Amino acid sequence: MRCLTERVLVIGLGLIGGSLASALRAHRLCHTVVGYDRDPEELATGLRLGVIDEAADNMLAEAAIADVIVLAVPVKAIEAVLAELKPVLRPETILTDVGSVKGNVVKAAERLFGEVPARFIPGHPIAGSEKSGITAADATLFEHHKVILTPLPQSDREALTLIARMWQAVGAEVLQMDVARHDEVLAATSHLPHLLAFSLVDTLAREQDCTEIFRYAASGFRDFTRVAASDPTMWHDIGLANKTAILQKIDEFSAGVQRLRDAIETEESQAMLGIFTRAKAAREHFS
Ligand code: NAD
Repeated sequence: MRCLTERVLVIGLGLIGGSLASALRAHRLCHTVVGYDRDPEELATGLRLGVIDEAADNMLAEAAIADVIVLAVPVKAIEAVLAELKPVLRPETILTDVGSVKGNVVKAAERLFGEVPARFIPGHPIAGSEKSGITAADATLFEHHKVILTPLPQSDREALTLIARMWQAVGAEVLQMDVARHDEVLAATSHLPHLLAFSLVDTLAREQDCTEIFRYAASGFRDFTRVAASDPTMWHDIGLANKTAILQKIDEFSAGVQRLRDAIETEESQAMLGIFTRAKAAREHFS
C-alpha cells in the first residue's frame, strides 16, 4: 500500500491511539506518525516502543503542520482538545476521532465551529479491550473489526475517502452510519453490556462472602464479566455522553428481566422457555 499522506498526528496515545499509530507505521501508510499525549510518560513510552516516529512536545505547533489529525482522547476530553486546536487548524487539514459516542462529538464541533467542519470525519473503531494505555497498544487491533464513520451532509468526499482508506489499510471493514443511529446501536450492543457487567460484579462484590463466590465462578461468569475490568473513567464518560440512548436500553432491559422474574415466580415454564429459546436462536444466528 502506498503512503496515504505525509504527517499524521495522533492526539491521545493510549490503547486506541497507540494501536492506530503502530498500525500506520507497520503498514507505512504515511511518512511520519507523530504522537501527542498530555501524559509525558505515555508519550516517552510510545517513542521507546516504536509506536510513533516522533513525539510532539507542543500539540498546537504540530497540529498546525499535520495533514491528518486523529483525536484518540477520552470522550469527555474531545471538546476541550477541539477548542485548543481551532485557532491553528489549516483549512486543508483532515480531522477524525475515535470516540465511542458520536452525538456528543458532533454537538461539540457544532458549538465550536457553527457546523461540523467539512474535513472533520467522526469515526469509531469497534475494536478494543478492557485494557488501556500505550503498553496495551497493538498494531493488529483493528484487523477484521468494523469501523463506523458518521459523515454529515457537508462532509468533504476527499477527506471521507482518505479516512476510510486509512482504516481499511489497517485491516478494518468500514461502514457508514447516521450519528443518532450509531449511538442507538452502540448503546444496545456495547454500552448496555458493559454497564451490566459493571453492575453485576459490583452487586456481587458487595456481598460479605464475595471472595468465596468469585472463587467458584465458572467460565460463563468470566466471559460475561470480562469487560467489568475496563477503565471506570472511560465508562463514566460514555455513560453520560450517550445518556438518552443508554437510559432507553436500560429500561428495555429492566422490563425484560422483570418478565423473566415474573415467569420464574409464577413458574410459567412456557414463558421461561420462550425467552431462553428465542435468545438461543438469536445468539446462534449472529455467532
Ligand atoms: P486510554 O486511556 O488507553 O488512552 C487515552 C489517552 O488520552 C491517555 O494516554 C491519556 O493520557 C490521553 N489524554 C487524555 N486527555 C487528554 C488531553 N486532553 N490531551 C491529550 N491527551 C489526553 O483510552 P482508549 O481506550 O485508547 O480510548 C481513547 C478513545 O477511544 C476514547 O474516546 C474511547 O471512547 C475510544 N474507544 C475506546 C475503545 C476501547 O475499547 N478502549 C474502543 C473504541 C473506541
